[in-house]
Amino acid sequence: MEKVVIIGSGPAACTAAIYCARAELKPVMVMGFEEGGQLTTTPEVGNWPGALGDPSGFDLMHQMLKHVQELPVTLEHDVVQSVDFSDPEHKKLKLSGGKEIETKAVIVATGARARYLEIPSEAKFKGKGVSACATCDGMFFRNKVVAVIGGGSVAFIEALFLTNLCSKVYLIHRREGFRAEQVLVERINEQVKAGKVELVLNAKVQEYVGDDLLSGIVLDVKGERREIPLNGVFVAIGHQPATEIFKGQVDMDDAGYLKVNRLLPPATATSCPGVFAAGDCAYPYYHQAIVAAGAGCQAALDAEHYILGL
Ligand code: NAP
Repeated sequence: MEKVVIIGSGPAACTAAIYCARAELKPVMVMGFEEGGQLTTTPEVGNWPGALGDPSGFDLMHQMLKHVQELPVTLEHDVVQSVDFSDPEHKKLKLSGGKEIETKAVIVATGARARYLEIPSEAKFKGKGVSACATCDGMFFRNKVVAVIGGGSVAFIEALFLTNLCSKVYLIHRREGFRAEQVLVERINEQVKAGKVELVLNAKVQEYVGDDLLSGIVLDVKGERREIPLNGVFVAIGHQPATEIFKGQVDMDDAGYLKVNRLLPPATATSCPGVFAAGDCAYPYYHQAIVAAGAGCQAALDAEHYILGL
């Protein structure tokens, strides 16, 4: 019987593991498919305080995992296949390799994946002009021409952010109506009037083009082919939280994000006592490593208090 099992191995999971280990809870960490999580595929991380020299996401996660390994944390290089939280005192986790773990508390830090268009040319240009995070990569496109794809609030926020950096921002959306909040639509319309943003509506992305780096995008606009020369594309068509295995066990919203208290302690508590959630699996906004790490700390403190009955 374990005290706490952490599911995941990204910034939220590593931070939770460090705090739990230092609280002498001897955590078990089930690492998942992609050890280190989403950040491992980010070419440069320029916004992690103290990480000078823009380390790669891979290097940053390597350091975090090394930190975890120096502490009394049991690492399971496996994937959680199913969970059973029906008995609060004996939460059960089944790993793909067949192992079964019983634990008092669980910290879910399984993350989310930015959705991409999944068109054939996309893989070639990921990190070479195609990104899913303007906050992370926008500064590489200073005074350049970029496009944001999507019609939701995130696409609009990314486009507004990019108007401060880039010479022109195309907002490309597959239909005429937007899901974005009205206040954001109004702010984008102001930028359209100022000539900083051009709306391209009823547009389906056909192809990304370029040699080594992205140099253009080919669209189908109401049946007409249109090619726009540009330097960067930010895909903002939503995220997919990795929460499939918790369906029916823990409350989640329509998009699959785990519902947590958020403001009042225990801030990371889910609908199931003793199950805490941190990072992108529980948070549809921000999607930043540092936010996930902060939530990982909260989850560890919440789990510690739960275990100690505080
Ligand atoms: P979202 O609201 O679901 O919007 C996703 C957008 O991507 C939609 O416009 C959708 O088009 C488009 N899309 C989806 N699949 C596509 C595809 N295959 N090809 C082209 N376009 C595609 O997602 P989000 O903007 O990431 O926001 C996530 C959640 O956070 C939402 O609930 C949002 O309200 C919330 N949020 C709120 C704020 C705030 O300030 N309150 C800020 C950020 C986010 P269609 O419209 O045609 O479906």
